[in-house]
Amino acid sequence: MERTILHCDLNAFYASVEMMLDPSLRGKAVAVCGSKEDRHGIVLAKSEKAKRCGVKTGEAIWQAQQKCRDLVIVPPQFDQYMKYSALTRRIYEDYTDLIEPFGIDECWLDVTASRLLFGDGEHIAHVIRERVKKELGLTISVGVSFNKVFAKLGSDMKKPDAVTVIPKQGFRERIGGLPAGDMLGVGPATARFLGERGIHTIAQLAAIDDYTLKKLGKCGEQIWRSANGLDDAPVHHMDFVDTIKSVGHGTTCVTDLYNDEDVWRVMYKLSQDISARLRIYKLRAGGVQIAIKDNMFHIAQHQRPLDAPTQSFAEIARAAFMLFRRGYNWHTGVRALTVRAIDLRSESEAQQIFLEADMGASEKQEKLERAMESIRSRYGKSSIEMASLFRAPRLAAKEIPNTMPSGIRIAGNPDADAIPDLPVMEFASGI
Ligand SMILES: [Mg+2]
Repeated sequence: MERTILHCDLNAFYASVEMMLDPSLRGKAVAVCGSKEDRHGIVLAKSEKAKRCGVKTGEAIWQAQQKCRDLVIVPPQFDQYMKYSALTRRIYEDYTDLIEPFGIDECWLDVTASRLLFGDGEHIAHVIRERVKKELGLTISVGVSFNKVFAKLGSDMKKPDAVTVIPKQGFRERIGGLPAGDMLGVGPATARFLGERGIHTIAQLAAIDDYTLKKLGKCGEQIWRSANGLDDAPVHHMDFVDTIKSVGHGTTCVTDLYNDEDVWRVMYKLSQDISARLRIYKLRAGGVQIAIKDNMFHIAQHQRPLDAPTQSFAEIARAAFMLFRRGYNWHTGVRALTVRAIDLRSESEAQQIFLEADMGASEKQEKLERAMESIRSRYGKSSIEMASLFRAPRLAAKEIPNTMPSGIRIAGNPDADAIPDLPVMEFASGI
């Protein structure tokens, strides 16, 4: 049976939520921007009017202001965006339970089984579009087609507040002339590769020769199938949880980093967050990956396997730091760092495989970290820290009220945030 897939895309989502919450912003050129203080001073989203001035997502605030003199800058309110994303989803749920989100503002809906009840895809699309506008004060554009790729393409063709149908009969005439890069799966690099070989449109991509297709590698077959309307990927059920492939955490530092010790501190903190999430997901890391962005915006990525799968933040941080030491030559300052746990395995599987490995020491470390975490969750993040982390000269003046024999230190007042957790390099022995 021919499927009916909708792709619903909230228009200029962040900016639209801001304008809906604050009517004085309506009709103005609005840009939602990260704060300058934490160095995320870039445009995260912009209103239609700001877009017409040439303001682009990702550019610096000062660049945007040069293009648009009366640009209104507002800070992001992520909790509101999450709320309205969920409310929109609730409207979709009245029409199907096959709802697959694609980012915070986009969803695919498979309404094949709902047609008898609610009418054809185009009709359902208009009903949903009207309801979102009336009930939430936001607009969506909807693509209606027989597969996910074309539904998504359709939602981009006319916006805001519009419905575009790409039917199975005659889809080639409808979309053949569109740039190949508009199609899901054709990223900028692939589009450039195709362009250099004279392939500019979806119709040309659909008729690509075998030789060029092979050169595209793995993604070639997929995008050729998509261009020919053969994409048959299902829309997942709303309760579907994707297999977690990696658990990562990154940060743009408040000031650039210029020495190993500062990098170690950041990596240590990032690893604590990763370790906590691995425990929640009941997973262990089989390897660690890092990404380093220097202050000239060059990004380098490095990875290595771990001797045995782990959830320990100390081990993850150690591996991450080792990668950094080998991979970075301090030609300039470091602006941003990301640490990622990769090659994930379930807790039970990991232990079976590595039974023969010497788990003694790391098991002890993990027990220690678990105990620390339960104390942290009860008394606050800075209630407990490794004693060795407080030997740094700059922290020597701080009073350490209580040291347990195991090397765990408990702060006198669990609620006070007086003692920063600043790990120092000596903790990571063996680096
Ligand atoms: Mg959108």
